[in-house]
Amino acid sequence: MDKKLPKVAYFCMEYGLSDNLPIFSGGLGILAGDYLKTAKELELPIVGIGILWRKDYTTQLIGEDGYPYDLYPNHQFQNLIDTNISVKCRVRGTDIYCKVWKVENYRNAVLYLLDTDLGRPEQDWITQKLYGGADQDRVAQEIILGIGGIRALRALNLDIDIYHLNEGHAVFAGLELIREKMEDGFTFEEAWEKTRKEIVFTTHTPVEAGNETHDLGLLMYMEANNGLSEQQMRQIGGNPFNMTIAALRLSCQANAVSQLHGETARKMWEHIPDAAPITAITNGVHVGTWQDNKIRSAYETGTDIWQPHLEAKKRLIEYIKEKNQVSFDPDVLTIGFARRAAAYKRGGLIFKRMDILGPLLEQGRLQLVYSGKAHPNDHTGKKIIQEIVNISKQYPNIVFLENYNMEIAALMVQGCDAWLNNPLRPMEASGTSGMKAALNGVLNISVIDGWVGEAVRHRESGWLLDKVLNKNVTSTEDQDNYDLEAFYQVLLKEVIPIYYNDRERWINMMKSSIKMAIEKLTSQRMIDQYYQLLYNKAYEAKNYFLAGAETFGKFDFINPS
Ligand SMILES: *Cc1c(COP(=O)(O)O)cnc(C)c1O
Repeated sequence: MDKKLPKVAYFCMEYGLSDNLPIFSGGLGILAGDYLKTAKELELPIVGIGILWRKDYTTQLIGEDGYPYDLYPNHQFQNLIDTNISVKCRVRGTDIYCKVWKVENYRNAVLYLLDTDLGRPEQDWITQKLYGGADQDRVAQEIILGIGGIRALRALNLDIDIYHLNEGHAVFAGLELIREKMEDGFTFEEAWEKTRKEIVFTTHTPVEAGNETHDLGLLMYMEANNGLSEQQMRQIGGNPFNMTIAALRLSCQANAVSQLHGETARKMWEHIPDAAPITAITNGVHVGTWQDNKIRSAYETGTDIWQPHLEAKKRLIEYIKEKNQVSFDPDVLTIGFARRAAAYKRGGLIFKRMDILGPLLEQGRLQLVYSGKAHPNDHTGKKIIQEIVNISKQYPNIVFLENYNMEIAALMVQGCDAWLNNPLRPMEASGTSGMKAALNGVLNISVIDGWVGEAVRHRESGWLLDKVLNKNVTSTEDQDNYDLEAFYQVLLKEVIPIYYNDRERWINMMKSSIKMAIEKLTSQRMIDQYYQLLYNKAYEAKNYFLAGAETFGKFDFINPS
């Protein structure tokens, strides 16, 4: 990266920089946090735009009956710097004032957060709960993030070349960029065309139904159209207005978050005229945040990695003792599973074979650590957690750690021996907890979905369930049966015997796993590709345009298939 770098403003609904700034729900936010930390470390001209969620996503605890319940304390945030800037947005007929905070203490990543909770009843609700509320709440939040975000950048006097929309939530930023240009005298079509040169977009949702849509009438009523006509809005996002399609039509280049997701996403949107090409840039994780220091130096110096691994495992065991009053044994194979309790992640899958699992637990061959939050309104997800919690009451070697956060994630991805990942294919766009585990030599036992197939080598740096049995997996039920059979086969025939009887082989696999993660799964590699495949492309296209070229169809965007 030698030539002048484009200056990037990155928009995201959530950021997982630290548990001291709890404004995230899961993988999307952690990705955004890891990205900003990496940007700052590499001294890249990148700023983040987000929202200060006063009540967070949820503080989720486990009730007596094992069913999770949610608390929404008003967080007291430290380390926020008052920029003394506030911007105004229109929401449903009212002027909304957004205060702009600056966050710069978390490994120095620069992040600006908008906040409407200023003691004004007509607007306080907007930025309180991340992903809380119904349709109108969500649209109001997205107006603040997108339109308010661009206005904040202007008020801060920041010179930006490229606007990067991380997921469709921030798509209204494009409408503000169009409005600005129309105010300068351009027609709607000209303004749209110029705006496209400045926007790149990352899509995260591999299932069509999972992409956010809003009734166009509702958007007009909420004033999300930002002065555009209903007809113009329809041209951009259709009716119902699809946030992903709109983002694809407002950007010049898009990316999916793993190679496999790239194929899925291209197929999913190929019927959309005038959509940006979708390339694939696999997510990555921030090494400084997720890799244990002692594991890192042992790996780098070629010294014993088992000792630092055991230390990390004992830290996790101490935490389990403190929180759940359960004693785990550092000499017993420990498998971790932690992620949002969404149904497709199949958190309860392996408990469908208690006839195999029960005896293993009773003989003390295995310990299981679970964690994860469900969306507060997701009853199905909460039932999954309840089921796991209730099973854990029968077995002292299963625990569920409540209120999953970055601290728990770090303890688990460093302190388990193996990491289980069994989402329903092809629902996991990327997944990143397994990358963090891999960085610490915690071996992935995983289906091939998201990033896994492009990095993990079966029996070398982890285990791929798809390679265990020779069968074709098709329907949902097949996947359950297949994955259960494959999991228990690999557990009984390989994972357990190798762990207990061939420590040298296990350690060699740990080293392969760390090597794979360093080579392929870091956020540094990801950001490098963002520059190569998104930002520089857009930047060149924009300058090409500014230099007076009449058409932009000539410009070749990279779109590897
Ligand atoms: C890494 C991480 C996630 C994302 O994990 P996935 O495997 O992508 O589901 C979610 N929450 C926290 C706290 C994390 O650290």
